[in-house]
Amino acid sequence: MHSEKVEKLWGWQSAVIEKIINIGMDEFAKGISDLAKAFQPADRWLRCIDEGTPGGVHMAGSGILLGVGAAAEAARAAGATTITSHEECGAAKLYATEKGLDPEKSDTYGQEFARDLAKELGVNYCHLPLSEMARPAGLHVARVAYYDGTGSFDPSRLPDTLPAGFVISRRYLKPDYARRECEIAITIALGHHGFGELFTKDSPFILVVVGDAKDSAFSLQSLRTEIEPLVHPYHGRVVIDGFLTPAD
Ligand SMILES: [Zn+2]
Repeated sequence: MHSEKVEKLWGWQSAVIEKIINIGMDEFAKGISDLAKAFQPADRWLRCIDEGTPGGVHMAGSGILLGVGAAAEAARAAGATTITSHEECGAAKLYATEKGLDPEKSDTYGQEFARDLAKELGVNYCHLPLSEMARPAGLHVARVAYYDGTGSFDPSRLPDTLPAGFVISRRYLKPDYARRECEIAITIALGHHGFGELFTKDSPFILVVVGDAKDSAFSLQSLRTEIEPLVHPYHGRVVIDGFLTPAD
């Protein structure tokens, strides 16, 4: 994508990101009067962690790297009602590369996997073409990745308030695997298909931990500690912040 267009897309989100960096995610979240809405997802469809496939619950490539068995276990725990695949899936590409398959056909593998998973679970399957996705073709516009300990966080419910980002439904995943999804999000964002070198120490990619105030197994602190090692190699270009579910 032409660099002028990329910088424009970067600039659109800069004000909100600067605010988060300045006051911290906790203060930022406290200032959102209707934050509770972001914890009322419109559906329980399983989608990719890609910021272009917002809503419901999220696993990289809908779980393609886990295989059908383990993905089905996580999807059942999440109460997934429909399994999706999508065009231009980075996780499916990674799967193809790791399996020694043709990376050019990665979206086909993503579709086959999601269809198999839906069949295993006895639920519907749906493919999301780029025309139905919430990002431009060829570019990931995520400035953050949400590491969600609640399993119900959907930033797209507050599109004018919360920055678009990858969402990793940590709640339904084992820590080691969830960390891997987090790494994938970082690699995509900082790579050629993301904003890449625009991420610096002054304008870092932010891993936003969403801690569950009511469940110590998914507390802000334990989830922060869990992903802490991931940011070290990036020397400040990736940082961790977070907030707790709103008190009711
Ligand atoms: Zn994907």
